[in-house]
Amino acid sequence: MENGTHYRTCHLCEAMCGVAIEVRDGHVASIKGDEDDPLSHGHICPKAVALQDLHEDPERLRKPVRRTTDGWQEMEWDEAFDLVASRLHRVRKEHGRNSIGAYLGNPNVHNHGSLVATMPFLRALGTQNRFSATSNDQLPHMLASLEMFGHQILFPIPDIDRTDLFICIGANPMASNGSLMTVPDFRGRLKALKGRGGRMVVVDPRRTETGKLADEFHFIRPGTDALLLMAMVHTLFEEDLVNLGHAEQWTKDVDLVRLAAMGFTPEAVSEQTGMPAADIRNLARQLATTPRAALYTRMGTSTQPLAALRPGLPTCSIS
Ligand code: SF4
Repeated sequence: MENGTHYRTCHLCEAMCGVAIEVRDGHVASIKGDEDDPLSHGHICPKAVALQDLHEDPERLRKPVRRTTDGWQEMEWDEAFDLVASRLHRVRKEHGRNSIGAYLGNPNVHNHGSLVATMPFLRALGTQNRFSATSNDQLPHMLASLEMFGHQILFPIPDIDRTDLFICIGANPMASNGSLMTVPDFRGRLKALKGRGGRMVVVDPRRTETGKLADEFHFIRPGTDALLLMAMVHTLFEEDLVNLGHAEQWTKDVDLVRLAAMGFTPEAVSEQTGMPAADIRNLARQLATTPRAALYTRMGTSTQPLAALRPGLPTCSIS
């Protein structure tokens, strides 16, 4: 690396913090947050500082290696590519396409080159056995995005910097730095939200790091978020609080939503969710009457049986 300051993006998570890497005498002298980065404004977490350790680790792989009876042996790239290609070809021919499994993880999925090359490669492999960090915690979000917006990675991102009410269900951005929400320095942004008179409400089965900073915290029984949300929808219709505004032109079948939510009164879901009916109504009212409100859900609402609730999938019943 050339001497000087190199401005890059930390690719270890979706927060995508800007980093300034100072190089002296060919070595990393420091890694700091880039104050001019429009998204992270100089924030980084300890993982970005540790990039230097990864970079300079004496055991870092700088060439492909293969396991032999005499231990690991380095090899040249061309040889490695040929070996992998011939083995993949053989395995697929002998055992079928689905005999090959692929796993993608961070920081692979935050790398342009990798993103561009990986999809065609996976398509060429033709295996259905594809796994990633996504499989563990966000496929229901992707399914909802696909059905609502036409593409699985069109994720709605709450505008935390302009929001006055932030309702956070089953999410812990204080620990994850926002992940899909792409929000470096969540603590600083939360402070700014409170500074302009805003509030954060957290709903979670556990008093998380985020929950401890909430203005209002509600415990909910695990796996019952769908009931809470339907009861909130019910309340919005019941109290005539549905106002689509500009969204009206892109919205259809609103009456079907009203009918679907009809049986889900806050009283009906209260026992299963563990939340008092009055709290559920109050939550719906706050959401509807705060002009700049956002409702954010994340892993807690994803990794449970009702996570991808939609027509055609089993639904819950209220007795
Ligand atoms: S939060 Fe940490 S790991 Fe994530 S992008 Fe920022 S510095 Fe990197």
